[in-house]
Amino acid sequence: MSLDLAALRAQFPILSRQVDGKPLVYLDNAATTQKPQAVIDALVSYYTECNANVHRGAHALADEATRRYEQARDTVAHFIHAASRQEVIWTSGTTEAINIVANGMAQRLKAGDQVLVTEMEHHANLVTWQQACLRSGAELHIAPIHDNGELDVEAFARLLNQQTRFVSLPHVSNALGTVNPIKDLTAMAKAVGALVLIDGAQGIAHGQVDVQDIGCDFYAFSGHKLFGPTGIGVLWGREALLENWPVWQTGGEMIAKVTYECSTWGSLPNRLEAGTPNIAGAIGMAAAITWFMQLDLNAVQAHEYALIQAATEQAEAFNGLTIIGNAKNKVGVLSFILDGSHPADVGFILDRQGIAIRTGDHCAQPLMRRLGVPGTARASFSIYNSLDEVNALFTALKKAQSMLA
Ligand code: PMP
Repeated sequence: MSLDLAALRAQFPILSRQVDGKPLVYLDNAATTQKPQAVIDALVSYYTECNANVHRGAHALADEATRRYEQARDTVAHFIHAASRQEVIWTSGTTEAINIVANGMAQRLKAGDQVLVTEMEHHANLVTWQQACLRSGAELHIAPIHDNGELDVEAFARLLNQQTRFVSLPHVSNALGTVNPIKDLTAMAKAVGALVLIDGAQGIAHGQVDVQDIGCDFYAFSGHKLFGPTGIGVLWGREALLENWPVWQTGGEMIAKVTYECSTWGSLPNRLEAGTPNIAGAIGMAAAITWFMQLDLNAVQAHEYALIQAATEQAEAFNGLTIIGNAKNKVGVLSFILDGSHPADVGFILDRQGIAIRTGDHCAQPLMRRLGVPGTARASFSIYNSLDEVNALFTALKKAQSMLA
């Protein structure tokens, strides 16, 4: 079955707007995705019908808000195949989720321990572990990539040993689109006894994620990359680990008993969720997931594959364009350089034609250095993009090339 693209696009109000008098061609989906009406409605409905603080009120609105908020947790748990709802911790996004885990690990790591990440990390999954290692005296090791942007799996294997306490790696690279074989990599890391976190910021919107099947210990993702609101995300972790994980922030909601001298912590999931949560965000994220799940995900994947295939073919045929990152298994992202021009200038010219891409280092400075480029222009596709939009990108790039020549 193929996607009814026109009907799908009609659900995203922003896609019908214009930029500079030109139809918007939104190709910055790896930065954030647009929101369907169902998500906008869920946010408006929460604020117009039952805005109240959760868990603590003795009134109808608080009950209703709590019910919707906790149902949202169930929706996430079901979506990622968590073993229980206690394993779903609300965070402000992937970044906070990784910080919860890395900060906890920093308290447990000691000199001589090793943490392994890859050369293709987003700063959120590099700097955070770098800091955890600096604080604890553990060593940070970096698994190399091949020049085409694929992980060097043999080198990854060689870097695993009895000292490897933690492995943290991306499901999908935001800068290159490389899809990592996370199930195999997780199994290799578990074989030496390491804990494993998958940075799912980019992976979550491109197919079905089953955390139990992957076999990892933690999976982190953001609502806004999955058609949901900003400021909300999820840390999924195994219950047995999260139960004893060092608390992250302290304050209301996460405690059991408090005296002036000391406090005890509540149980999961609240013990890792201090303060008033992003209630509307959680409800909006669940609405996004519900919306996403009613799509034919096989058709979605086939469509996404067709988009990246078409973009890659046109890029390969384009004289004077260099593709950065040519992994065999790639999704959603075409990173490139127009030879002799700066990515920022390309982005500027495209923007004048209504085409939104991202340019720069994509929060992956060491990766850019590794690839020997100052940055790239990145067109990133989502399920609502069309082949016409891919064509529009390349027409605009021809124009940019002639203007920058
Ligand atoms: N990791 C990857 C691979 C990402 O693409 C991003 C977002 N660009 C993040 C982590 C951080 O996500 P957020 O900013 O939503 O916390």
